[in-house]
Amino acid sequence: MRSVDDHLSAVLTGVGPLMSFDQQLLDAHGCLLDEDVTAPVDLPSFDNSAMDGYAVRLADVAEATELLPVSLPVVGDIPAGDPTPRMLGPGMTARIMTGAPVPAGADAVVPVEWTDGGISQVSIRQAPTPGQHIRRLGDDVKVGETILTKGTWLGPTQIGLLAAIGQDRVSVRPRPRVVVISTGSELVEPGSQITAGQVFDANGYTLTAAARDAGAIAYRVGIIGDDAAELKERIEDQLIRADLVITSGGVSKGAYDLVKQVLGELGEVSFDEVAMQPGKPQGYGQIGPDKIPVFALPGNPVSAYVSFEVFVRPVIRRMLALEPLYRPTVTATCTDPLTSGAGIRQYARASLSFASNGDRATAEKASADEPVGTVTPVGGHGSHLMGDLAQANSLIVLPEWTTTVAAGDPVQVMVLERRTRP
Ligand code: AMP
Ligand code: MG
Repeated sequence: MRSVDDHLSAVLTGVGPLMSFDQQLLDAHGCLLDEDVTAPVDLPSFDNSAMDGYAVRLADVAEATELLPVSLPVVGDIPAGDPTPRMLGPGMTARIMTGAPVPAGADAVVPVEWTDGGISQVSIRQAPTPGQHIRRLGDDVKVGETILTKGTWLGPTQIGLLAAIGQDRVSVRPRPRVVVISTGSELVEPGSQITAGQVFDANGYTLTAAARDAGAIAYRVGIIGDDAAELKERIEDQLIRADLVITSGGVSKGAYDLVKQVLGELGEVSFDEVAMQPGKPQGYGQIGPDKIPVFALPGNPVSAYVSFEVFVRPVIRRMLALEPLYRPTVTATCTDPLTSGAGIRQYARASLSFASNGDRATAEKASADEPVGTVTPVGGHGSHLMGDLAQANSLIVLPEWTTTVAAGDPVQVMVLERRTRP
């Protein structure tokens, strides 16, 4: 048997960040920027009003007070997007909308709230300070300024900034395209009728969602029965669009476990017994002319998911050039006793509660051996127990040399983030 660490380093060997290329902004969301971006324009790119109000010359309204308002003729309206260059003469004002260009000659904007809101004549009750309510050209971003540096993770606000400077594409490390295939003649599509002996395809959904969660573009190809020719053809068809292939099922020792045979015909794939529970049978290799990495995960749903967390997620993160590769691990006090086989690493589904005086962020910064809270194993060892798995927010990791844990002992816990839930 191979250790978890050896298998992990084997699957990571030879996997590197995908080649960068220009992507549409929204496709670049969640990716790492692979260039420094300098602003081709100033932001704002023209002086504009920060308020709905009246563009004024300071000298005309300097004396305005609540008791003695100043009355000025309104020469017109300046809406946002107004393309006409305008000039505001002395003793005049223009109604101006938020974001509209400030006319030459005006040196402040009086908010509509300080006026009677007049249309042809306006009464102004308060004097603005110089430049008040004017957003000046370049006061946000200056032309030529580096606004984002290589290696920045592009979240919504970075994507928005790129759009604001007029850029619609950007060079990023692309998201890996992950193809997820479920194998097994007993499997049926959720949403359809099930008959005796059949099972809904859970893994296809778990693994596709998990791959998306890890930052990949994941395609759920669906179910392929235990038929070698069909399996081979369907996998070959998928290679064209895949940076990574994940199959589940068909890697045990059963008579119809054909994944080994088929992947063996498509490339160099080795099947190992890894010293872990759940998830012992693991296949990994490269297939097709482009040597696309492939994971052949076990079929039991818990095994498939834990294998994904332990081996596949770090590979996806490496393809994305994202650090850290691994889920955060914290120390917590185990509330219940646990046992584990000697020589294997146990991943026990668990519910982790952070101590009331800390949240996850502080907990992750805490010293590695300080318990951050308590952790309770959820459900049993069975690799088919999906109900329990869905209640777990973490995995207790029992090292190879640990065979028993007593209630109150500190244990290592892998925190499974839930990005789609608070
Ligand atoms: P296998 O690895 O193909 O021998 O499958 C092991 C167990 O996992 C069997 O009970 C299968 O029915 C079950 N299984 C395999 N694939 C899936 C799947 N996609 N969804 C749910 N259960 C599965
Ligand atoms: Mg099967």
